[in-house]
Amino acid sequence: MVYSVLFRKYLTENRNRNQEVFPYLRSHFMKPLSEIFPLLKQSRTIAITTHQKPDADAMGASLSLKHFLTQLGHKVTVISPTNWASWVNWMQGCEEVLDFESDKLKAETVLNKAEWLFCLDFNVFNRTKGMTEKLRQLSCTKILIDHHKEPDTDSFDYGKSDITKSSTCEMIYDLIIESGNGDKINEAISECIYAGVVGDTGSFRFPSAHSGVHTLVADLKSRGFNHAKVHEALYDNFLENRLRFIGFVLLNRMEVFYDYNTVLITVSKSDLLRFEIKTGDTEGLINFPQTIKGIKLVAVVIDRDEERKWSFRSKGDFDCNAFARKYFEGGGHFAASGGRSSDSLEVTAKKFIQAMKENKSQLQ
Ligand code: 5GP
Ligand code: MN
Repeated sequence: MVYSVLFRKYLTENRNRNQEVFPYLRSHFMKPLSEIFPLLKQSRTIAITTHQKPDADAMGASLSLKHFLTQLGHKVTVISPTNWASWVNWMQGCEEVLDFESDKLKAETVLNKAEWLFCLDFNVFNRTKGMTEKLRQLSCTKILIDHHKEPDTDSFDYGKSDITKSSTCEMIYDLIIESGNGDKINEAISECIYAGVVGDTGSFRFPSAHSGVHTLVADLKSRGFNHAKVHEALYDNFLENRLRFIGFVLLNRMEVFYDYNTVLITVSKSDLLRFEIKTGDTEGLINFPQTIKGIKLVAVVIDRDEERKWSFRSKGDFDCNAFARKYFEGGGHFAASGGRSSDSLEVTAKKFIQAMKENKSQLQ
């Protein structure tokens, strides 16, 4: 017994090296999230992070967890790997989130001091861009809470990875309830959790909005929370240029391949500059082509400075996660995924059309 505890401790402390020396030990590391519940009583220094360009679920999960842990007496800092869309700025506590790119020194100091690191809404370190190596090197306790496919469980000490969950925010709600702390759910937590659930379920329309999601919302409502305020903050808060941009793109940059039930949108750097598009302004663009009858796959590629960023959405039995992994160095969920390319916009778009043709049978 003592030996097994010591051996486990040794393995955890030497995680990176072990994976080379004992490759057969992979996938056996991550202990259940519920094992941290009794440990929550002892106050700690905690860092919370999420994927690059955090969306409503990523930011909502990070801040709701921060509000919860702060009430338990922990010292908590949220670090985002990059900047984020302005439509999450309304979330309470967002003004204190550190941007690793623009506040690197401060963020690294926080990470160095952290006893625990929560990784939310992503499951492989390379989703944190410039922070990837730093996270790999940290020797603190790492805890994963995520709902994407194919987690790198070897990199985490504790965690929960559940693809049946609508959102990471739903998993934060579960954590609060299951650890016996439902009384800690206040307005700030409710707003953040609800925002993530709404964002990731496409306002309750995707199949991921299972009955438990509606029960969660009913519970938040019974605690007196105002859902209309969150919808307005998320969706009625853009500037005119973003709507003009969407109109322009749908008219001029959208190609429909009826033989493949597929839509492709390509957005160039000059389009972004012309309409003064900021981080987050392109969110939601991908939903419009899905309203065309019979469309199974929508792909949007945007020419960002350092890479061409892909987004994929599907209906029916087309696996976006597998598609993004196979062709565009990405991943995500069955019906929503993303990826990247270092090719030019024209070349990567051509590669997509080739990939679409290779997948004709699944798209019909
Ligand atoms: P979005 O199109 O909204 O950026 O992303 C859709 C889903 O795919 C999200 O759950 C997101 O976390 C995931 N995703 C987006 N880009 C990538 C990527 O490059 N790699 C992986 N593994 N997942 C991604
Ligand atoms: Mn999510």
